[in-house]
Amino acid sequence: MTTPRPRPEVLEISPYVGGEATLEGINRVIKLSSNEGAFGVPPGAQEAYRRLASELYRYPDGGALEVRRAIGARFGLDPARIVCGNGSDDLIEQLCMAYGGHGRDILMTEHGFLVYQIAGINAGSRVIKTRERNLTADVDAILAAVSPSIRLCFLANPNNPTGSMLPYEEVARLRAGLPQEVLLVLDAAYAEYVGRPDYDPGVRLVNETDNTVMTRTFSKIFGLGGMRIGWAYGPPAVIDVINRVRPPFNVSLAAQAAAIAALAEPGWVEKGRAHNAEYRPKLAAGLQAAGIKVWPSEGNFVLADFATAARSEAADAHLRRRGVIARPVGAYGLPHCLRITVGTAEEVQAVIDALTEFMSGPHA
Ligand SMILES: *Cc1c(COP(=O)(O)O)cnc(C)c1O
Repeated sequence: MTTPRPRPEVLEISPYVGGEATLEGINRVIKLSSNEGAFGVPPGAQEAYRRLASELYRYPDGGALEVRRAIGARFGLDPARIVCGNGSDDLIEQLCMAYGGHGRDILMTEHGFLVYQIAGINAGSRVIKTRERNLTADVDAILAAVSPSIRLCFLANPNNPTGSMLPYEEVARLRAGLPQEVLLVLDAAYAEYVGRPDYDPGVRLVNETDNTVMTRTFSKIFGLGGMRIGWAYGPPAVIDVINRVRPPFNVSLAAQAAAIAALAEPGWVEKGRAHNAEYRPKLAAGLQAAGIKVWPSEGNFVLADFATAARSEAADAHLRRRGVIARPVGAYGLPHCLRITVGTAEEVQAVIDALTEFMSGPHA
């Protein structure tokens, strides 16, 4: 018997490992491993999902027109320049398949979001990672890595798992320095959490150029990670390309309805943002008081730096014994760090208590 073989590069891909959700022997797990919002699902989205149960035999609108209109109204964008995906991961994948390929390579940064690497290699591209400075994308390093084979450049802003961000001026300098034929993809999954006035999620550059795309998601502040829906805003030509290659019904009926309801939920985003603005600094301060280095973050998570991989692993094991699941980020080249989502007030306190205990114990 012979097993059919994929293209050789496919076997170079390490499967993406998502945040764990269960701990053996512990009933009430505090899951802080996937940056889901602290408040669960918007009530209106739950209601919309339930109401749909009897309609599930129908195909969804393949063009997701109502959702695109709702997104457009909410963010002041033209729905014709929006395309929805089965999570923003789907759109990243479609962009790589359409604009990447053999001899059409991809730039991303050293500790950038790993989906870019997986999608890029699968498309047949080489994925080149550029050095960061202080766990922050370095525009000069990215520009220095440009060669005639580069066709795509991914920047998560803010980045996961580091939490670092580039101000608008730096992103604009990146765009201006990249060749015209390089598509710049600005992944703004955490845009709603950013408080800095010098930030732009990508809308400005999409409007001002023909070669920049922004991706967004309903998985984080909108509380719909399990539904799988994200969107891209881009130049008409790029939106047209994605619409040619994406699966025709890539966003389910339920996901479309839940997203529309989540956008309409009164005060939802404001509540999530206010909570994060209060508890992200509290979490960081609590860990710092325990003697742990915490990197500055603009997302709904922090990166706790334990200096060595062994100490980070021991901290992770200690958290697990206390029922807390954080995210080890060795796959991101950060084996000495744990990424911890900003949960509810109680969850934040539980993390601080557990790690304070760890730091005063024998394994710290
Ligand atoms: C969570 C996250 C996403 C969102 O992915 P979905 O497929 O929309 O759930 C995209 N980019 C980054 C950097 C993320 O952290």
